[in-house]
Amino acid sequence: MLLSITTTHEPVTDLGFLLHKHPDRFQSFDLSFGRAHFFYPEVSESRCTASLLLDLNEIELVRDSHKSPQASLDNYVNDRPYVASSMMSVAISKVLRSAMQGTCKDRPELATTAIPLVAELSVLPVRGGEEFLRNVFEPLEYVVTARSHPVDDHFPEWGESRYYTVTLQHTISLAELLRHLYVLIPVFDNLKHYYISEQELDKLISKGEGWLTSHPLKEQITRRYLKNRTMLTRRELELLRDETEAPGEDQLEDRDGTELEIERPLSLNEQRHATVLSVLQASGAKRVLDLGCGEGKLLRDLMTVKEFEEIIGVDVSVRALENAVRRLNYERLPPHQRDRVKLLHGSLMYRDARVEGFDAAAVVEVIEHLDPPRLTAFESVLFRHTRPRTVVITTPNREYNIRWESLPAGAFRHADHRFEWTRTEFQSWATRVAAEYGYTVRYLPIGPEDPEVGSPTQMAIFERKANPDE
Ligand code: SAH
Repeated sequence: MLLSITTTHEPVTDLGFLLHKHPDRFQSFDLSFGRAHFFYPEVSESRCTASLLLDLNEIELVRDSHKSPQASLDNYVNDRPYVASSMMSVAISKVLRSAMQGTCKDRPELATTAIPLVAELSVLPVRGGEEFLRNVFEPLEYVVTARSHPVDDHFPEWGESRYYTVTLQHTISLAELLRHLYVLIPVFDNLKHYYISEQELDKLISKGEGWLTSHPLKEQITRRYLKNRTMLTRRELELLRDETEAPGEDQLEDRDGTELEIERPLSLNEQRHATVLSVLQASGAKRVLDLGCGEGKLLRDLMTVKEFEEIIGVDVSVRALENAVRRLNYERLPPHQRDRVKLLHGSLMYRDARVEGFDAAAVVEVIEHLDPPRLTAFESVLFRHTRPRTVVITTPNREYNIRWESLPAGAFRHADHRFEWTRTEFQSWATRVAAEYGYTVRYLPIGPEDPEVGSPTQMAIFERKANPDE
């Protein structure tokens, strides 16, 4: 699989500065799934082309095939060595990291300058055909050319395949072009991203910042990602454990410690989980979700209730899910228990078909970790699409903070909290959401109630109306 980038910007040698690669050199890089070669097939006065060629090591891929549980012929015979897939994205991020970040030490102004660029991908498997290809790239103002390849030259009646040679032309900064390719290449692909880790997929999402949110197909692009995310198996989680963590996640863990320390005298966390558990039980739910399950403390409680036939925990943090696997002693669970509970890596910001159609969802101490401008996305995903019959949301009551002796005045209980609401703020949010999506809502305090400032935790219980017009 080959990605070529051509510019007619002059002097053409600027491309070498931007890519941090000298036009006279042929360079090779070892990657976990093979080798990437980087070279310049053409450098003339007026044109310069740079190419990134991937040479997959199929033996390594097969050796790694424990990530796809059924070892089968598919592991040996597939299109992976020939098409641009998520592995191309990984190669872009490894080989062209500085260029994608838009850093150029020698010529900083050049990195943000729009220059005429043409990217050619040979070949891209396009699920959805040329129309989808255009619908993805044209809103980003690319001039798209797509040449499809027949299934077999000798049998024209078999028609066209889903493989295309694609050129994308635009006057744009190189960093932007690379970020677009990095995020979008895997979106066209039909296969699960077998051979790369979930963490690498996470990075794909972060590269979408700044343009994905305003893209008309943002939902479809995002959905295709999430669809490609496999349920994390125990084996995968073990593999991920060895990988280096993003620094942010370590910091989060320390902060979690702080939160527990402050609240310990009341063991508020246990009271919260006990209350949520009884509300869920009373709702008669059989299939329950714990959204933002963290390290799985509530999941462990949910597992003690035999009426819950299916229990799914979702969290955006791989580290938290790993800890949940440990906490639940997942490895040693008898098979019938293991079948009841599943952990999914996912974000509450994006619609996810895997969690639709459940009876109840608990969202315990999660919303205050979400950026306020993104709450609308969260609301719409939860109440419009996931749409469980019962939703239980808990969040700190900010008014109570003055009762925590160890908490400095005005501080939040946790460094990662983006806000903490008073009772009025929480209730006006919840009342509005309930009305908008056809739910009723009631409120319960959790923890000791203070006559002045209320209880430390506030809880809203939403019930879906049978007839939303009521
Ligand atoms: N519900 C758990 C954990 C609360 S801490 C408990 O009661 O103990 C908040 C959790 O929300 C963290 O595990 C964090 O990783 C998760 N989280 C934050 N933003 C998220 C998002 N957008 N999608 C899914 N989980 C998220």
